[in-house]
Amino acid sequence: MTLLRIAHLYPGEMNIYGDTGNVIALSRRIEWRGWEAVIDRIPVGEPYDFTAADLVVAGGGEDLSQLQVAGDLQHRAGAIHEAVGAGTVFLTICGTYQLFGHRFVTHTGDEIPGIGVFDLETLGGSKRMIGNIVLDTPWGTLVGFENHSGRTFLAGGQQPLGTVRKGHGNNEKTSDEGAVTRNAFGSYLHGSLLPKNPGFADELILRAVRTRYGPVDGLEPLDDDLEMQAARAAAKRP
Ligand code: GLN
Repeated sequence: MTLLRIAHLYPGEMNIYGDTGNVIALSRRIEWRGWEAVIDRIPVGEPYDFTAADLVVAGGGEDLSQLQVAGDLQHRAGAIHEAVGAGTVFLTICGTYQLFGHRFVTHTGDEIPGIGVFDLETLGGSKRMIGNIVLDTPWGTLVGFENHSGRTFLAGGQQPLGTVRKGHGNNEKTSDEGAVTRNAFGSYLHGSLLPKNPGFADELILRAVRTRYGPVDGLEPLDDDLEMQAARAAAKRP
């Protein structure tokens, strides 16, 4: 029996625009293949052994929520870097994505230190980047919804998740969106992201299976008709 353990980091503090849907989509797609999905919730202050997790998922949050989790995240930095090095899959959205960079300087000038999984930094601005967003990525087109005032700038060698076709992405100046380091992904895409981007959800599951169980060719395909209808509808929205 294939069992995959999903760690939901800060489920209470970092969960806006339905980001918990990413955890649900992953667990359903694992179970639809006849495998077992276990979900661990990790609130601030709760000890957690990241070597046990196959997929770590964390959502977005306003600046105040980011301040509430930032200290706790610093305590976990070593364990998270170790897990990233070991090939554990991470999906971090918006507020957590920013904290997986080096720092987030809010629009009021507060500096919230990050843990530097991604080689990037984020600067708060006065203009919100809000609306539907479409990306081209190595894993196909991704659709979602963004709402952030932070502008994220990638260092030269940092791989982005994709290129913006519609919307803003990391900032208003460049066309890159998100970041990828090994099996750690960061993105501004809410929506939530994975239910209507099933190919990308499966890419995360495939990577998790390979890290835990060794080489496999691919995953058994699922009927994604409904999911793709949702993706097409989202892509057409202005
Ligand atoms: N507070 C951050 C910003 O506005 C993140 C917002 C979010 O997670 N949606 O940039």
